[in-house]
Amino acid sequence: MNSYDVIVIGGGPAGCAAALDLNQRGYNVALCDQAKFPRDKVCGEFISPGADPILKKLGVLNAIESLAPKRLKGVAISSYESVELGIDYPAVTETAVRPTSLSVPRYQLDSLFLKQVQSAGVKVFEQYKVTNFIFNEGCVVGIEGWDENKTSFSLRSKVVVDAGGRNAVSLKKFNLKQERSSKVAFSAHWQGVHLPDDYCYMHVSWPGYTGISSVGNGTANVVLVVDRFENERNENGKGAEKLATFYHRTLMQNCRRSKMLENGERVEPVRSVESLAFTVKPVPCGGLVLVGDATGFIEPFTGEGIYLSLKSSLLAGEVIHSGFKISDFSQNILAVYEQKRHQEFDGKFLLSQVLQRVIYNRTFCNRVMKSLATNRALAETLVGVIGDILPAKKVISMEFLFKLLLGTLKANKKVGLG
Ligand SMILES: Cc1cc2nc3c(=O)[nH]c(=O)nc-3n(C[C@H](O)[C@H](O)[C@H](O)COP(=O)(O)OP(=O)(O)OC[C@H]3O[C@@H](n4cnc5c(N)ncnc54)[C@H](O)[C@@H]3O)c2cc1C
Repeated sequence: MNSYDVIVIGGGPAGCAAALDLNQRGYNVALCDQAKFPRDKVCGEFISPGADPILKKLGVLNAIESLAPKRLKGVAISSYESVELGIDYPAVTETAVRPTSLSVPRYQLDSLFLKQVQSAGVKVFEQYKVTNFIFNEGCVVGIEGWDENKTSFSLRSKVVVDAGGRNAVSLKKFNLKQERSSKVAFSAHWQGVHLPDDYCYMHVSWPGYTGISSVGNGTANVVLVVDRFENERNENGKGAEKLATFYHRTLMQNCRRSKMLENGERVEPVRSVESLAFTVKPVPCGGLVLVGDATGFIEPFTGEGIYLSLKSSLLAGEVIHSGFKISDFSQNILAVYEQKRHQEFDGKFLLSQVLQRVIYNRTFCNRVMKSLATNRALAETLVGVIGDILPAKKVISMEFLFKLLLGTLKANKKVGLG
């Protein structure tokens, strides 16, 4: 049976980042993915500017840049067809250069990432589906599964990183997933969409929100997120046709988006993903570390999943490296990773929950947007946090809240509400 220092399950951004990081640290790494690449993924496809330094450290930024990818300068948010605000990412270094976010189709990005992993020397097994773990004294020491020919395989390692995303084998095996929302997302690429500027356009309105952004080559990605029951209640018919009818009808209900999309054409079938947000219970054994979406998922309004995936893999890499130094991958040692993850991400998760509350309340959302419109610096701080270039505490603070409320009062006075 082949043996490695580390086995990574999953070749998405989290798995590739973990494999590259551990490879750079000198470990013998294998990566298995059930898919054959290139493979697609429901995603808004813009990557927080905060991810650039990580991609550079992992040695993949140049390869991504060689695709001449689209770069977006910020986010344009509209609230219930009234207030609209384009907000650029703020400059956070002495150079005063404003950062931008990569916007690349996942079909291209993930495949390129995996190729980089392979050329770095990681043993990559495509179309290898992991179905179970091998244990020794209560610790995971390997994996089992099926390859493309339905032949069983098993591989041994000192530690396993599960980067299998929202359907990761660990979540099923140990029953770790706790559903947090009944939302459903739809996505498809379009051509001929009229996008006034290089922003990711977020349109908040009933019964949900959309994210529309260019991914280069005249193509735009159009993602719709709504309550699952809204979708089921409102559409007759079956399967793909029902999905597409609901998607188009809901998109066109909002006058701002219909203006953008009226001359556009959807160029692929609509794809969907259900039960968007979930949390994950701690792993009940040693030898196994979860990274990326396998650790839980916040709704995609802030579009940070790829950054969080990359960052979680780097944090896991640090802790696994410490484990190798003392040859210990027990639950206690790996718990340090959990602590680091919470320190790093809890503020972001809280902000995301607050934003969810705001956007689903029309009056409140309009007021917050008006307040942000009166204070550009405040708006840019928010977008800087969402873009992972400023720490969450810049927004999760009394000072920010106070300025936001002040702005709300000023805005209301102007329109005669206050
Ligand atoms: C609607 C929507 C919009 C989003 N928009 C954005 C956005 O604009 N920006 C952003 O940064 N993030 C966005 N996200 C989040 C982002 O897509 C995820 O956070 C990101 O893909 C997580 O990466 P990952 O590597 O953890 O998982 P994935 O990308 O899901 O990769 C998991 C991989 O594991 C493989 N795998 C799974 N199980 C097994 C198994 N048993 N054996 C072998 N292989 C296995 C799969 O084939 C897959 O390749 C969005 C998500 C949704 C749902």
